[in-house]
This record gives sequence, structure tokens and C-alpha cells, in this order.
Amino acid sequence: MRLTVLGKSPSWQDADGACSGYLIEEDGATVLLDCGTGVFSKLRRYRDYTRVDAVVISHLHADHFLDLVPFSYALTYAPRQQPTPVDRWPGTDTPARPKLYAPEGAIETFRRVVGAWGNEDLIENAFEIVEFKFDSVLEVGSMRFRFAKVPHFTETFAIDISSMNGGGRITYGADCSPNEQLVEFAKGTDLLIVEATLPRPERTGIRGHLTPQEAGEHAQKANVKRVLLTHVSDELDELWVSKCAKRAFGGQIAIAREGAVYEA
Ligand SMILES: [Zn+2]
Ligand SMILES: [Zn+2]
Repeated sequence: MRLTVLGKSPSWQDADGACSGYLIEEDGATVLLDCGTGVFSKLRRYRDYTRVDAVVISHLHADHFLDLVPFSYALTYAPRQQPTPVDRWPGTDTPARPKLYAPEGAIETFRRVVGAWGNEDLIENAFEIVEFKFDSVLEVGSMRFRFAKVPHFTETFAIDISSMNGGGRITYGADCSPNEQLVEFAKGTDLLIVEATLPRPERTGIRGHLTPQEAGEHAQKANVKRVLLTHVSDELDELWVSKCAKRAFGGQIAIAREGAVYEA
């Protein structure tokens, strides 16, 4: 299985950056994991958006789903998606309509968001939406997706992707406060993608994210093989982030960068 980082910023984008978006691919099947602010432009840099088989959304925060809006506009209005030939596009009777897997209640949220300026059914017409639950198991090509609820400010799912071809396993922690669920869910995984958002725990006392040290502790307790820290702003010192996480984990750690590719 192959992971390509499209975006890794927290809720505000890095300079020239994008929020959460990761391509997961195996044997010709392509899944976009989260589609946060700025991700559609990065997707266009690396892949043909009409060839994405499915999009999977971890939770309904803007930095994890908002670029479904421009993605939907492309699927709806791009010349290449129309039945009649125009310019260099030959016309198609079978325009792309990727699957979109999102948490329960997503369709209603999408309607409220897009409905703010009119066409509330934009996203549901552009994609084939399936709402998933914590016990859903999805298969795309040779990849199997499982979910676990993790604590955050809104209903949020960690996502485990395992190859059915013996090609490895990737576990994505989404956004979460310190918790045992992610540790259990990620046990022994080949690559843990875990957020390391905070320079220190939330001042309010209400937890929703992890510090780099906490990210490392989760990885250590779950006995994972490798760690990819993400959701780290370019306004934090990377050396400090990686040092804190490494001290807690004791193994190999990388910090997500746009365009970086990882095998699992
Ligand atoms: Zn986020
Ligand atoms: Zn979030």
C-alpha cells in the first residue's frame, strides 16, 4: 500500500499548504482519505481527480472535508464531465461519480454548508455518498477500511486500512485527545499517522488534540512499527516536535510533508 501526503496542515493552512488529505493506493485503486481546505488543488497536482475511486472522511470539521465543495464543482461542471464534446474534451456518457464515505449525519451537514449559497444537493449529486458507522467495514479494490470512534470536539473516527493482498497496514488517528481507543485500534500497525497539533495541552482544560509527546506515547503503547506525525503547523519548530515525539516513542518518526510518499 502506498500513502501520498497531499496536505497536513491543522485547521489553518501552512504557507502554500493544504489541510488534511492523504492518498492511499494499492494495485490501481485510489482512495482520498480526508479532503480538507486546499486539498483539491494538491490532488490535481498529483492525480487525475476523475480516477479517484473513493473519498473517506474521518470527521466533519472544515479542515477535513471542506474541499469536497470544489471537488464537487469539478465533477459537476468540468468540460470533461459533460456529454457533448468541447475544445479538447471528447465528451462522456459516463462521467466520474466517486464513492464518498462519511460519518452518519454527513449528508445533512453537507446540505447546510452548500445550502448557505443555494444548491444544497451539490455534493450528494457529485458523489455517491454512503454514511458509515463505527462498525462498518468498507472495501475499495484490495484495501479494507475499518473505523474506531476517538474523542474529539465532534464525532470522529480513526481509520485503519489493511491490504487484503498482504501489502501492509496503515492506521490514521484523525484528530483526537489522549485516549485508549486509538492505542487498541492501532496495535501493531505498520504505519501510524497521528496528529501532533499542540505546543502544550489546551489551556481551557478541555482536550481535543495531542501534543507531540502524547502522539509518541500513543505510538509506543500501540507498539507500532513507524510513525508519521501530522496536523503540525509550519508555525511550530519541527525539530522540537520530532524530538518530543521520538523521546516518547523510541523508534522511527517522520513529520508529514506535502508530496511525501510512504510504503506500508
Ligand atoms: Zn483537523
Ligand atoms: Zn477536527
